[in-house]
Amino acid sequence: MTDHLSPETIAATHGIAIDTAYGAVAPPLYLTSTYAYEAFERPRQYGYGRGGNANRDLLGEALAKLEGGAGATITASGMAAIDLLLGRLSPDDHLVVPHDCYGGTLRLANGRASRRQFRLTIVDQGDPAALADALKDGASLVFVETPSNPLMRVVDIAAIAAAGHAAGAKVVVDNTFLSPALQNPIALGADYVLHSSTKYINGHSDIIAGALIAANAEDAAADRVWANTAGLTGAPFDAWLTLRGLRTLFARIERQQSTASAIAERLEAHPGIAAVHYPGLASHPQHDLAARQQKGFGAMMSIEIAGGADGVRAFLSKVAHFTLAESLGGVESLVSHPATMTHASMSIEARTRAGITDGLLRLSIGLEHPDDLLAGLERGLAG
Ligand code: PLP
Repeated sequence: MTDHLSPETIAATHGIAIDTAYGAVAPPLYLTSTYAYEAFERPRQYGYGRGGNANRDLLGEALAKLEGGAGATITASGMAAIDLLLGRLSPDDHLVVPHDCYGGTLRLANGRASRRQFRLTIVDQGDPAALADALKDGASLVFVETPSNPLMRVVDIAAIAAAGHAAGAKVVVDNTFLSPALQNPIALGADYVLHSSTKYINGHSDIIAGALIAANAEDAAADRVWANTAGLTGAPFDAWLTLRGLRTLFARIERQQSTASAIAERLEAHPGIAAVHYPGLASHPQHDLAARQQKGFGAMMSIEIAGGADGVRAFLSKVAHFTLAESLGGVESLVSHPATMTHASMSIEARTRAGITDGLLRLSIGLEHPDDLLAGLERGLAG
């Protein structure tokens, strides 16, 4: 009989004490590109490292359990996880993506669509009429990102999944911003969940990695075959590190979001800030939806600095305890300027349509003491 385990327990213990050679408590790292056959015509469980590796499998099993999926494919990056789906679309397929997701996702979707690899519609998924219009002639894949990067807009996963399925599409949710600790899209009807595990799942800003989790076993098996075919799988050491990071995911994110919530409230009342986008604030337009759909509000927010680009320049020259860098979800706090960093590959029109202004800054709240972070932000705002 297998006990039902809480997600916290799965994250902390999946793969612990399974080593049969020496009884190592931490899972051994299998650095090998290939595997010896037992004898002629007698391969073992794994044949070649691109197709199979025990460290990737352990991590994939843990993530599939945490997301409530049938299986997972561990990829070399979050983008590789996205392309594991996009790269298999054909010219008569129709992909629907949100207008305000991660800039790299839009760059990939546009790049493949401009090569006529599929038909692409970019739509405000928070507008049910616009989404219905995008889906009216059918779709193959609906890509959802919620909360969105960087504006923290929240969309209704269950409603979009139902609309996508009615249009004949599979639905994938990029769950990078919340992690399986705070949101489980498969339980809300999604067919796939994907992660840039570079972010919260690994949590230590020391690798690039991704994962695609499928709700059903057939899709999960097909994902693994294609990841091997196209060479999208991740490195064993990265999978080992990611599983180590996953051990503390729940503890990290709980603390990070409690600090984020305190910071969002303080910043909202600050005269130097024109707007705070954080789903935990009662003023957030989708606060109720976030409270219903998520298990927590997370540790990401974006803020609109009064004074636009000049205000941003002054703030960044003085802010302390926030490193100016892309990425998010690590133990250290980061600040980024989407218009010139993460979303610079979008056209000015697309950025304007998405609401990404020159005064917008994205904050990833880490594990520092809240008082230090608040003092660091105050220094920036005094600037
Ligand atoms: N999805 C989201 C929401 C992201 O923020 C990112 C990267 O910032 C990605 C996907 C891409 O992931 P990676 O950088 O691991 O390729």
